[in-house]
Amino acid sequence: MKTEFELIEKYFNKKSMKAHKGIGDDAALFERDKDNYWAISTDMLNEKIHFLPNTNPYKLGWKAMAVNVSDILSMGASPMFALLSIALPKSNSEWLKKFSQGFFACCKLYNAELIGGDTTKGPLSINVTVLGSVNKKNVLLRSGAKIGDDIWVTGELGLAALGLKIAKKNITAPSTLSKKSMDALEKPVPDMIAIKKIHSFCNAGIDVSDGFIADLNHILNASKVGAKVFLDDLPINNWLRKNKKVDLALYGGDDYQTILTASKKMRSTIEKLIKKNKLDISRVGFVTRDKKLVMDDHDKEIKLKKGYEHFENK
Ligand code: ADP
Ligand code: MG
Repeated sequence: MKTEFELIEKYFNKKSMKAHKGIGDDAALFERDKDNYWAISTDMLNEKIHFLPNTNPYKLGWKAMAVNVSDILSMGASPMFALLSIALPKSNSEWLKKFSQGFFACCKLYNAELIGGDTTKGPLSINVTVLGSVNKKNVLLRSGAKIGDDIWVTGELGLAALGLKIAKKNITAPSTLSKKSMDALEKPVPDMIAIKKIHSFCNAGIDVSDGFIADLNHILNASKVGAKVFLDDLPINNWLRKNKKVDLALYGGDDYQTILTASKKMRSTIEKLIKKNKLDISRVGFVTRDKKLVMDDHDKEIKLKKGYEHFENK
């Protein structure tokens, strides 16, 4: 079976004639007015593939919105409107009440309004489209990384992947970490405040949905550059490090954190903003001319696995 990226490339990747940016980034961009673009992105969640049967409906409603918000934020944009399409096996009012409460709670946090959608019968599947706005000066593309840029990442990596292992009873972890990981998996909270504080100083952005390494590679490929990343500097829980589960942070999906690159000249400005606003952002490496991704652990290179891709690894 081909990977999702090969399928998109072969059947769908047509160059847009009307959009400023079409297929290939976290969101497409098109003219809003002289100073701003609209940013639009869509993501689908299917039962058994993207979430386990009997997932808490409130959290599912939240997540369906949050994963799209994550794409919009990583373009430097602010979410504004949402469309919600949902296929339901049966009409269950208790389930729908909780699902809609979670969905609207997420809309409220990110200042987005539901303005349309579609409701049909079928195996449980949820598709959300989010429309946002971005000032042309603040647009972050995957292709924007420059040689010498610092690489920054929000939050902590690998929690959602740990949460999935805990949910499937493949791992047991200490109870506080278990709870944090299950929350990261079921109710991701893209860090709008952190991203907005620094995005105008950044050159490139992508959200981490397929795993840190896979998504950083998307930036590197699109920007035709490489990177050196320091394992010690990655925001990875100590328990994962001690228990040799670092791969969950490198290759696990569903983090919904954001990778940003910014010129070295912006480092002190960004560091001051991080300190002043107590932002959860780490500097984890830098962009190189050599077109490969090198992971460094105390000057010893670590061999990387291939990144996460839906049709290969599941
Ligand atoms: P993300 O993980 O940020 O949601 P994806 O990796 O799913 O992005 O998709 C990569 C790019 O391909 C995006 O620009 C997305 O809009 C586009 N894309 C995905 N599936 C299709 C499709 N069926 N038709 C057209 N474009 C698609
Ligand atoms: Mg994305």
